[in-house]
Amino acid sequence: MYIFKTAKDLNRHLQIYRDKKRPVGFVPTMGALHQGHLSLVKRSLADNPCTVCSIFVNPTQFNESSDLAKYPRSPERDLELLHNVGCDVVFMPAVAEVYPKGLQFEDTAQLDFGSLAKVMEGAHRPGHFDGVAQVVKRLIDIVQPDRMYMGQKDYQQLLIVRSMVQQLALPVEVVACPIVREADGLAMSSRNQRLTAEQRQQAAAISDVLRQAAQWAAVHTPEEVAQKALRALEEAGLEPEYFTLADPVDLSPVHRFSEEEEAVMAFVAARAGEIRLIDNGLVKKG
Ligand code: AMP
Repeated sequence: MYIFKTAKDLNRHLQIYRDKKRPVGFVPTMGALHQGHLSLVKRSLADNPCTVCSIFVNPTQFNESSDLAKYPRSPERDLELLHNVGCDVVFMPAVAEVYPKGLQFEDTAQLDFGSLAKVMEGAHRPGHFDGVAQVVKRLIDIVQPDRMYMGQKDYQQLLIVRSMVQQLALPVEVVACPIVREADGLAMSSRNQRLTAEQRQQAAAISDVLRQAAQWAAVHTPEEVAQKALRALEEAGLEPEYFTLADPVDLSPVHRFSEEEEAVMAFVAARAGEIRLIDNGLVKKG
């Protein structure tokens, strides 16, 4: 497994694949890796002769400085996990390598995500998606992958990145991968490490509520489903930020369940203490 810290060294290596027109798969991460991240790496390994995984905690997408400071970092363990699954290349750049001209927004500042960026995470984490678009653009420019693998755990982020790729006509295919969960249903997340034993138990309510929401949706209105879900999260000891039923394509809010075959997804953000967790799931099949 090759480990590169600079774009120059990475590119010298990847040129061999580009010259032979052999596809490069890319998995951007912020490290503190778990089986969710590794599922993306494995998918890329199955699809491409070369897989690059980046580990970069992007300062521009954190809207709370304490969240950035406390973001878990375990580079040595990450490298071991990546080595064990057979990852080809790891890119671990410093902040100045990704942003040589400083942290200000440049080529992604003119993008328009419309309502996609105004709801849910966009509404609750000001500036977050600007930072995500900026870093993903920079990483795509550096790695020049043919395919990029992203998790549906961050569903709204996936749609934002797809929109950016389309608006800038970037030559990369964005591949969506399913959410990997713990045995009790909790979506895997680097932030789960920071939960106390009690919070870890409470956090299981998030996926429980998503599962129940699919049943409630058969007999209740979307508003009733959301109210029941918020109450259940509070009763579990969590502090819900939102529970939203939305269209999976454009994230527009769903106010009534139609008879037609239109899929509806539920999106949730809740805090266990100061740890903010998100998850989503289908409540009505299309
Ligand atoms: P992060 O390191 O949190 O920025 O995540 C890097 C990538 O891994 C993103 O595309 C995430 O959506 C994806 N990811 C994180 N957690 C999971 C999970 N539990 N299942 C599948 N993908 C995930």
